[in-house]
Amino acid sequence: MKKSPQQQKLEGLLQSSKFSACGFMGSDGRSLWEIIDEDAAVIARAGKTMEEIAARMKELTDEGVKGLGDWVEISKTLKVMVDDNRGMIPCPWPHHVRCLKRITYVRSTLKEKEIRWSDLSVHLIKEHGFFQGRGSPYRVDPDTLIKLIFTVG
Ligand SMILES: [Zn+2]
Repeated sequence: MKKSPQQQKLEGLLQSSKFSACGFMGSDGRSLWEIIDEDAAVIARAGKTMEEIAARMKELTDEGVKGLGDWVEISKTLKVMVDDNRGMIPCPWPHHVRCLKRITYVRSTLKEKEIRWSDLSVHLIKEHGFFQGRGSPYRVDPDTLIKLIFTVG
């Protein structure tokens, strides 16, 4: 599919360092649309929707906030901590949305994995289906994310 000028402009915007230190695209060689398509397929295979994932992420952030910077136990194997950075960061899509810069860390002792996201990450997933490019410090790997946040026990 041929890219429209708007798509090209948006990709340029996302690749720039204007919005985050290393850029949303990271070192990913794929186009924005390829990243979105491939991650959407992972989510679909897992039988989830972007809305369900974003809702669960928000729920975990809300629980983590209660810890005031300390770890909060969600279950026997899952804990959450929120680092409440002050300040806002704009969504790179041209619709004037700004999100809190705070970071949520989720750790699973069962899977021995940790994942983190910002409030903007949740917005990008929910509204744009965008998990960010490989090599971006804030890429949220959809497969790891699903395994962690929907862990029961
Ligand atoms: Zn947005």
